[in-house]
This record gives sequence, structure tokens and C-alpha cells, in this order.
Amino acid sequence: MDKKDLFDQITEVTRNTEDLLNKLHETQSAMVEIMEENAELQIENQHLRERLKQATTAENEGTKNTKYGLSKSLQNLEKLYASGYHVCNEFYGKHRQDEEECAFCLTVIYGDR
Ligand SMILES: [Zn+2]
Repeated sequence: MDKKDLFDQITEVTRNTEDLLNKLHETQSAMVEIMEENAELQIENQHLRERLKQATTAENEGTKNTKYGLSKSLQNLEKLYASGYHVCNEFYGKHRQDEEECAFCLTVIYGDR
């Protein structure tokens, strides 16, 4: 191997190492983003669970139905659903993708009517 080949090889290895380092930094940033998102979702989930607990308590205190035929707790679930969250056991607390209707949620709120 002559000196030029050796120099070319070192240049290539340096470039590859820089590429790798850049990718590493990108991956690290992506990971931080995911961790932040995860923390936010945990807080949101906690918040929703508290709201469900309140709603359930309200229902236990009095299951008087409203003029729309829904008890107060079901109205809360209806509101939660309307603001774009699942209230069904399957996906509780998750965002409804593109506001799509969920048959499980509708059954929880309106029963099998
Ligand atoms: Zn649902």
C-alpha cells in the first residue's frame, strides 16, 4: 500500500466516522423527543384516569339521568369522547386517530341502543 492509498483510506474512515457520529446525534435527539412525549402521555393518562374516577364517583353519588337520558358520568365520558379521546376499556385515554368513531366507546356511552 503506497502513501496515497493510505491517505485516501484515512480520509474515508474519517468521513465514515463523522457520518456515524451525525447519525448517533440524530438518534439521540429522536430518543429525547420520544421520552418527552412519553412523559407527556403519562401525565395525560394520569389526568384522564382522575377524571374517570371523578366521573365514576359522581355516578355513585346519584345516577339521576338527564333530559338526554345520560347520567352525569356518562355525560363526562361523552365530553371526553367528543374532545377526541377513547373512553372504552380497550383504548382508554388514547387519542382517537383523526377523530374516527369507536364502536367500543359508543357502546360505553350509549349502551347497546
Ligand atoms: Zn374507543
